[in-house]
Amino acid sequence: MDRQINHPTISEAEIIRPTHVEVNLKAIAENYRKVKKHVAPAKVIIILKANAYGHGLVRIAQFIQELKADYLGVAVVEEGILLREKGITVPILVLGGIWGNQVPLFLKHNLTITASSIDKLKQIDEVAEQMKIKAIVHLKIDTGMERVGVHYYNAEKFLDAAYKCKNIEVEGIFSHFASSDAADLTYTRLQLERFMEVLNYFAKHSIETPMRHISNSGAILQLPEANLDMVRPGIILFGVYPSGEVKRTIEVRPALTWKSLVVYFKVIKPNHPVGYSSSWKADKNIRAVTVPVGYGDGYLRSMSGKAEVIIRGKRYTVIGTISMDQIVVNINNDSAYNGDEVILLGSDGENEIKCEELADWAGTIPYEILTNINTRVPRVYKE
Ligand SMILES: *Cc1c(COP(=O)(O)O)cnc(C)c1O
Repeated sequence: MDRQINHPTISEAEIIRPTHVEVNLKAIAENYRKVKKHVAPAKVIIILKANAYGHGLVRIAQFIQELKADYLGVAVVEEGILLREKGITVPILVLGGIWGNQVPLFLKHNLTITASSIDKLKQIDEVAEQMKIKAIVHLKIDTGMERVGVHYYNAEKFLDAAYKCKNIEVEGIFSHFASSDAADLTYTRLQLERFMEVLNYFAKHSIETPMRHISNSGAILQLPEANLDMVRPGIILFGVYPSGEVKRTIEVRPALTWKSLVVYFKVIKPNHPVGYSSSWKADKNIRAVTVPVGYGDGYLRSMSGKAEVIIRGKRYTVIGTISMDQIVVNINNDSAYNGDEVILLGSDGENEIKCEELADWAGTIPYEILTNINTRVPRVYKE
């Protein structure tokens, strides 16, 4: 099985493509410290799913481990295994459900399992018994997301079952918010209330309460009473806010800059269309440059007609439909030369294109912009 999820880390000297992502590790460290301070004494599970929100799973996990993180979270077991194979020893919670016969893999690699039903508990318990290992489990309660997890109103039977399993250690219990990044927190508060009711179980049965966690970035920013024992920040660590309306109670800065270079200059005559389906043409001579990035890199085609880039400190529009590997930029009457830097996302120090802008152009959310930057785009890390 090929478990290569992210592009291998390469140094700047080895860059073979003009198009690359620069990750500012210092920004991630600062964002992490701010979140940690904001939620203390609650612990932090750093969520690194989807290639660490596009920043490169392995390198980011190594860096986070150096920062002495409490816990890491990933979505699928393959991500957890890759991190273990790369020498990550921090506890890792796999947030997604278990599938088929994956339990031995979790146990073999010392990964914390999300148990989301009584059947799964039984399956985990049996495998753990066979392997003579105690399985570390976090119980997933559904308080209003309707994805995976036992409904809050059926949780008692689930908890009874969990504490009957001799080969399972219940280390944590968690739930997930559906709209904690909204201005209106009514539903979020209702979910928290439902979760707290479930947690009464432990006092009632005189069982030591496992680690309780429910807060994602939105709740960390807006609902401190939901911090409980641990919080699960994802996008905010990378310096991007989960929504436009969320209260920005922690100031974070983006860690990612997506860059390319001008590789071609030309003058385009009037009525000579640009790109596939010939959808764009000028009515006068224009100067244009070609940049080697496209939807095959995650520069989404749906941004066609709206996207802008920064060249030599100025913003210019992308013209014609975005191709798989190339875009054409109208530089009006200005000059640009082969090898000039092109900022697709991020800042040149003065001008900035925000992740939120790309999301608006594409009709999506910042999460999708970051996680779509393809693995063929090399990641370069700045300490
Ligand atoms: C993705 C995810 C998070 C982190 O969400 P952000 O909005 O990026 O902070 C936390 N918990 C779970 C269960 C998740 O799936």
